[in-house]
Amino acid sequence: MSVEATDPQLARYSFQRKLSEIASVRGRATELISLYVPPGKQISDVMGYLRNEYAQSSNIKSRTTRKNVMWAIESLMGRVRAYKVPPPHGVAFFVGSKAVGADKSETVTFIVEPPEPLGTYLYRCDSSFYLDPLESMVHEPDLWGLVVLDRAEVTLGFLRGKRVEALRNRQSQVPSKHGRGGQSAHRFERMIEHAAHEFFVKVAEMSAELFLPKKDQLKGILLGGPGGTKEFFFTGGFLHYELQQKVVLPLFDTGYTDEHGLKELVEKATQTLHGLEVTEEKRLVQRLLVEIRKAETGLAAYGERDVAHALEIGAVEILLVSDGLRRHLVTFLCASCQRTFSRSLSDEELEQETAIRCPSCGATGASEKSREDYVESLFRRAVDSGAQPRLISTESEEGEMLARAFGGVAAILRYPVASVPASPPRPRV
Ligand SMILES: [Zn+2]
Repeated sequence: MSVEATDPQLARYSFQRKLSEIASVRGRATELISLYVPPGKQISDVMGYLRNEYAQSSNIKSRTTRKNVMWAIESLMGRVRAYKVPPPHGVAFFVGSKAVGADKSETVTFIVEPPEPLGTYLYRCDSSFYLDPLESMVHEPDLWGLVVLDRAEVTLGFLRGKRVEALRNRQSQVPSKHGRGGQSAHRFERMIEHAAHEFFVKVAEMSAELFLPKKDQLKGILLGGPGGTKEFFFTGGFLHYELQQKVVLPLFDTGYTDEHGLKELVEKATQTLHGLEVTEEKRLVQRLLVEIRKAETGLAAYGERDVAHALEIGAVEILLVSDGLRRHLVTFLCASCQRTFSRSLSDEELEQETAIRCPSCGATGASEKSREDYVESLFRRAVDSGAQPRLISTESEEGEMLARAFGGVAAILRYPVASVPASPPRPRV
């Protein structure tokens, strides 16, 4: 299983990074092709369409553009043919010649299997890639389940980003305690309790119907209402166990149990939730600082080299990575001694990669073998070594400190690990 499959935080981050990389590509002319194949589309239809485009592109006047477009379509056909059917969410291809420097270009190919199903088939040839359908998914906001109830009414819905959707409402048949006619008080109490119980069972059924199909996307369920009914409902074990686990504590007081109640619920919860998330991040960085102050006995590592070492020996409990970190992990092959070595480099440093020295023989002119996003590589290594990776936003002062003072990477350790000495002086040749 890939790291992305195990970590939704990273999946979103990776998707976002990939889109910004694709968005940065510029063609010298109208020669970048974007192709969106939604689920259910016949691959043979797509191939037919591409063959037709290929035939038409032979009419393009500019020789270079014609050559580039025809190459791109040919390349696309090869990629598309590799699919017998589109993947579950469909697939998007971005192929073309990217302008680099004054008059050079290099070919690029990106294939994206999106986190949500693509809606429509689309072919576009332009001087930049067309990303609108995917960009709307980046901001695909968090999904929360909402329930407000008392003994008289329940309303259920979703919070999608900032949008509240009221989807189910039901009035209960629980009689009011006031209009009890001529029945005995005891019998009437029992009847009320029975009716309330039935109502809660119904609320649980409605919750299951609405929330269980979305349980993997749901960040949590917010439960609220006036008075003590919500607590009674929550502690009474009415909810399906998988939903019960998702209920966010504390429960929230609201004045209403209708659509207004859902809005009240969200207002009250938003502050708490955001606060909780940021607080958790702050807490982790503070714990890190405490450990760092203990010097040698501290359970902390920071900076690229020490964290990489701690990950390698499996000493990391929690890996803290700043979401402001923008680097690549590049693997080089030394032309002189044929050894491979890796470096994390910023975009600017990448441009001077020919100046990078081989750590074994000191020669320059190593060639790039592969490249990976540095944050992704950290997450992957963390998961491989049994550590828990956490992306820390730069929103809090602590998060900012992680980014600035520690190079954006630190770790809370299982046991103290000595700092790795700087590389030994390279041997004289
Ligand atoms: Zn070397």
